[in-house]
Amino acid sequence: MVSSRPRTYTVEAVIVRASDFGEADRLVTLLTPFAGLVRAVARGARKPKSRLGGNVDLLRHIRVSVNEGRSLHSISQAQSLFSLRGLHTSLEKMSTGIYMAELAERFSVEGGSNPALFNHLVRTVQALDAEDLHMLMPRWFEMQVLQINGFLPTITSCVDCGSDLEPQGHVFSPERGGIVCPDCRASESDVLLPAALNTVKILRHMARAEWQAVQPLQPGEDELRQIGRILKEHLEFVLDRNVRSTAFMDEVTRWRPGK
Ligand SMILES: [Zn+2]
Repeated sequence: MVSSRPRTYTVEAVIVRASDFGEADRLVTLLTPFAGLVRAVARGARKPKSRLGGNVDLLRHIRVSVNEGRSLHSISQAQSLFSLRGLHTSLEKMSTGIYMAELAERFSVEGGSNPALFNHLVRTVQALDAEDLHMLMPRWFEMQVLQINGFLPTITSCVDCGSDLEPQGHVFSPERGGIVCPDCRASESDVLLPAALNTVKILRHMARAEWQAVQPLQPGEDELRQIGRILKEHLEFVLDRNVRSTAFMDEVTRWRPGK
């Protein structure tokens, strides 16, 4: 028998979005390993004596009790699982962390289980907190998010004809989703981004390596710019074409009458 009474459950989560709400509350979006996004209000969190207080700030990794409500869930208890120290000393690190949380959120839906994405966010935020900021960290984070969700660009052969890549003359097509060889580059009139050999090598490395193996790399400014542009455009294309429609389909399925 299904109970109509509100349910309370405890879950591990990272806060990927937080904003002030009402007089003294916070509205938070939690990313959880097995239930995707959960939106909830932390009542009284902005009161000086609140026990929720700092535990419901952005990027916190917490264990939290969620009380399901009819229209809005609420949080009654939150225990910090990892204290962020280095993050709060650097605006650049903090904004990098916020960007990564937003990206994880955009690849997530309510009710969608994705423990690999959750663990990736947790581990990367911890590394960001502990280490000096590395310009490749947000790019590696993006590459792994694409990998986890099955949207990696084609970077080992030409995305059009499948031929092996020679050392020179390649470009990246966000629309086609990968590297295009010189023979195929003129076949369509899409936007083509420069992709030098080293850029492609770093992209390949980031797709398969743990952060510890990427961290020693020191790419030049040109490579960083190319990598940044390729991933930005690829992500925009993927998010526009796939993730929104996937999220929309999930919503449709969830709200189908009789479910
Ligand atoms: Zn080709």
